Amino acid sequence: MIIRIKAPPLPAEKIFSRVVCIILLIFLKKSNLFVASLLAMTCFSLFYEFVFYQDFIVSLCYFEYSFYRVESDIIEHQKGLAGIEMSLLVNTVSTQSHHTNAGFRNPFPGFKETKITDFFKWKIFDSLKNGKPQKPKRYYFEIVENNGKYLRENKTDFTVTWIGHSTLLIQMDGMNILTDPIWSERCSPVPFAGPKRFVKPGLALEDLPDIDVVIISHDHYDHLDRTTVKKLGKKPLYLVPSAVSKRLQKWGLDNYKELDWWESLQHNGIEFACMPAQHFSGRTPGDRNRTLWCSWVFRGEKNNFYFAGDSGYFPGFKEIGQRYGPFDLAAIPIGSYMPRWFMRPIHLDPGEAVQALQDVKGKICIPIHWGTFDLADEPLDMPPKELLHNVDKLHLPRENFLILQHGETQVVAGNH
Ligand code: ZN
Ligand code: ZN
Repeated sequence: MIIRIKAPPLPAEKIFSRVVCIILLIFLKKSNLFVASLLAMTCFSLFYEFVFYQDFIVSLCYFEYSFYRVESDIIEHQKGLAGIEMSLLVNTVSTQSHHTNAGFRNPFPGFKETKITDFFKWKIFDSLKNGKPQKPKRYYFEIVENNGKYLRENKTDFTVTWIGHSTLLIQMDGMNILTDPIWSERCSPVPFAGPKRFVKPGLALEDLPDIDVVIISHDHYDHLDRTTVKKLGKKPLYLVPSAVSKRLQKWGLDNYKELDWWESLQHNGIEFACMPAQHFSGRTPGDRNRTLWCSWVFRGEKNNFYFAGDSGYFPGFKEIGQRYGPFDLAAIPIGSYMPRWFMRPIHLDPGEAVQALQDVKGKICIPIHWGTFDLADEPLDMPPKELLHNVDKLHLPRENFLILQHGETQVVAGNH
């Protein structure tokens, strides 16, 4: 005789919890509102306690899986590389060791991958334990009025203008070059949420001279901004690291060149070289490290420039200095460095920025990646103070560190 045992119906609370969880996951996948959705899920877990909490954990496992599919490929790759690990230490990037089956990785000795659980620890558990980081609600940054007239007329001087964050206008050998341009109000996939700009761009987009080249260091929202790229349009040549061009293609652009680490090309008399960096990439939870991240070298007839993009401190700086240094000017990121336990592998702190400048053999430093978007635990105005503290400690000349105000232009070297 077969006895059929009917499963007891799920309690309404549990069904509700499952439905909410699925809706949030779909929403998360479709809109990329990663943090917002996770916070919402945490709030629900507080209301619905254990039942929802189970679903929350299941959801986390799902994301852990999608993030670390890439990692498993890396492990496989490392197994294959075991025999040549020593040569990687000696010559870190002349091999293609930063490639994996699914994307890219940091091949540098001592690099420790930050995990999604570390992110939760920082954003949720640390702030519950220690409270929110102490930061002022407002900042008072001086902005230099810049209508762009001199920049539009300049055809000879080597100049640098800080628009804000990592966006610089570099004028070199008669070319106008933008680095990681962002003019949007927020660095976010959506216009109504995400980190908001504290200081308006130092130069209006309409006041720019004709842009010849745009370089992109990686695809994070604060470095590759869809709205800005679409406004800049098809006229400039976009130089991007490997696999980033698929994003530009999606946005209707075809005027790009993609380069891998140590590859370079000549354009109107300037050599643009794609250099390594120690960072990561991704714009959605499932696409971590699918595209490459990099720094850039511009080598002109008379002058040269290094743009570090986003990077943690790594041995690649020395190698770049040996191969391409010394540099007349080097843009080095100094912000988004706290908490160190989380940020160290991916973002320099101001002390490391000074070391990176010395490693690449930069003569003059332009600090970038500060004072514009609040992306980490330190106050927005702290990085330059810390930088000068480190400069003084090492008895280095302060005049070699050009802490620009938003909109400020400095002539690095002139022809008249
Ligand atoms: Zn980044
Ligand atoms: Zn960044």
